[in-house]
Amino acid sequence: MSRRPEILFPLFADLKGLDGVGPRTAEHFAKMDVEKPRDLLFTLPHNIVDRKIISSINQAELPSVVTVEVEVGLHQPNAVKGKPYRVMVQDAETSFQLVFFHAHADWLRKQLPAGQRRVISGKLEIFDGLAQMVHPDYILRAGEIEQIPQIEAIYPLTAGITQKIIHKAALSVLERVSDLPEWIEPSVLKKNEWPAWKDAIIAAHSPTTPSDLSATSKARERLAYDEFLAHQTTLSLARANKRRAKGFTTSGTGILRNKVLAALPYKPTHAQSRSIDEITGDMAGDKRMSRLLQGDVGSGKTLVAFMALLTTVEAKGQGVMMAPTEILARQHLAALQPLAEQAGVVLEILTGRDKGKERKAKLEALAEGNIHILVGTHAVFQKDVEFADLRLAIIDEQHRFGVRQRMDLSAKGIAVDVLVMTATPIPRSLELANYGDMDISVLDEKPPGRKPVETVLVSNTRLDQVITRLKSAIKDGRQIYWVCPLVEESEVVDFAAAEDRYRSLRLALGEECVGLVHGQMPHAQKDAAMAAFQSGKTSVLVATTVIEVGVDIPNASIMVVEQAEHFGLAQLHQLRGRVGRGAQASTCLLMYAPPLGEVAERRLTVMRETDDGFRIAEEDLKLRGAGDLLGVAQSGLPRFRIGDLEVQADLMKIAFDDARLLINQDPTLKSPRGDAVRTLLFLMEQDKAIRLLSVG
Ligand code: ADP
Ligand code: MG
Repeated sequence: MSRRPEILFPLFADLKGLDGVGPRTAEHFAKMDVEKPRDLLFTLPHNIVDRKIISSINQAELPSVVTVEVEVGLHQPNAVKGKPYRVMVQDAETSFQLVFFHAHADWLRKQLPAGQRRVISGKLEIFDGLAQMVHPDYILRAGEIEQIPQIEAIYPLTAGITQKIIHKAALSVLERVSDLPEWIEPSVLKKNEWPAWKDAIIAAHSPTTPSDLSATSKARERLAYDEFLAHQTTLSLARANKRRAKGFTTSGTGILRNKVLAALPYKPTHAQSRSIDEITGDMAGDKRMSRLLQGDVGSGKTLVAFMALLTTVEAKGQGVMMAPTEILARQHLAALQPLAEQAGVVLEILTGRDKGKERKAKLEALAEGNIHILVGTHAVFQKDVEFADLRLAIIDEQHRFGVRQRMDLSAKGIAVDVLVMTATPIPRSLELANYGDMDISVLDEKPPGRKPVETVLVSNTRLDQVITRLKSAIKDGRQIYWVCPLVEESEVVDFAAAEDRYRSLRLALGEECVGLVHGQMPHAQKDAAMAAFQSGKTSVLVATTVIEVGVDIPNASIMVVEQAEHFGLAQLHQLRGRVGRGAQASTCLLMYAPPLGEVAERRLTVMRETDDGFRIAEEDLKLRGAGDLLGVAQSGLPRFRIGDLEVQADLMKIAFDDARLLINQDPTLKSPRGDAVRTLLFLMEQDKAIRLLSVG
């Protein structure tokens, strides 16, 4: 059933079967990720060259590719070894030189007999004031001119692969292409006026105008959609598969939740209530939950998570919440334990720090069901951690973990409801690309009373003024984060910078009131620094980006970021989100080293102009590109050969809807269209989807 359809065999055959591809060339192709004829099919030209004949090179703007008819003149063989062989030629108006290095004189005399007419085509440039063409691409008799393509496609190359080689090989793949069954929903195809697959692929390899090269050309748009549809079908199949897996039915009584809500000094926002309902609704169903909770920094995700965790306890089960850093795990403990205690719920923490007897005792309590809710770092999923009745796993700040770890959860046999939470405002297109296999709840509303954070750009030449300003802020009882730059990807360098700044600020502001926290510190010191800042003992906390995520100290109202131009926008947004949580008006000082480049200035200006995480993410995407946005290591973003998420987000959305609908109606891809989509999945090498199909 799940075998590659025969119609695709030629595209998955040996690359060496293509015209002009021997073992050496095949090796070179591999360097550009072309290993099968299919890969070549999806390697499209990125430029075109016009080879229409002109009567004289005088009509061309040099340097450029020209095609002219000439009369061959004098040969000037290379007198000295290493010097080029030159041939004078004359077109209708003027003369120029053809230049050959390492020339074979005999061959050249045969190709270019003096006094005869030839059509030549190649790149003409001015060198030492003379027009010359080095190694023409074509030298033909006048009657053979139709051998020169009027418009020639230019492919991306790698060492060892020339345009001639790739053209020949591409042509020979195109000859093997058959009509494939149509996998695109007919109405989508019609509405977008897309060509059939075969026509699209042929057209994409034969551009004749610059607009044929654009992502919005009908042919390329269709091919991009094919990629997105294959990807979304995979995610939809994964989602359907997960949902088919039986889960627990966890419905709570509401008693614990109501107790906690009554003890809170505030009411949940509408968005929080809605998300809580969506989540507890999933948990009450017998399908396994796989849900993403997305909410900008400060939108109150922790409360939503806690309500879900309490629901498991009401149902006599257990819940676990994993945070990406120790600091954050401790903060969850500090915020939630008092509330849990009031409701008679036992909440504990487990991190890499727990060792020996104490750890053993915690593990036993967990296994016996005496701990109801566990928070911690990834230590909570170590092999020997066993629960009596685990129902729900929550992953906080999931973008810090990466997609793979999320997928790993179920691989570890944790067959529980899963809720992942992220504050990274992901543009819709990336969200669909990355989380299309999950259901999504969004906190699109912040708790009331938040004051917007005023953001100021400050040159680092004004460091003294900044420090003076901090002095008076400290007198007013305000608290300040001071974030040191991410100099390199190296923690060591980072913390050296932070320690330097820590020393200089202690000198300037007083020893007592400045604290320091960074990732390399011993645990106890880290805790002490956070606690001192939390309790107001220190007024300034110098930190590396360890405080980027999740830290919640409402009294802190000033954020200073050094060398802000080196941070990603999403990161700056996260950092800025550390302030503006209390009653006071807050300020974020983004310091930079002048002069700022154009892009850097635009990025920092975006930060100053908006506080909207989604807008910032969109701008970031525009300025940096999709791969970069989430960070290479953590993105797990699919790579598309033709599709471009940055400009074709709308196509991803259509593919998302279409795939969900298809998989709902035809979960095993048995209908005729389903069968066509199967062919697409093979064509796009969606192995994961194909495996899911064979299981299902
Ligand atoms: P994040 O979504 O960034 O994880 P948190 O859950 O840390 O946000 O919440 C940020 C702050 O907002 C916390 O101090 C929390 O107590 C507070 N908070 C959460 N929900 C509300 C609400 N509905 N009204 C007022 N404050 C709230
Ligand atoms: Mg949080």
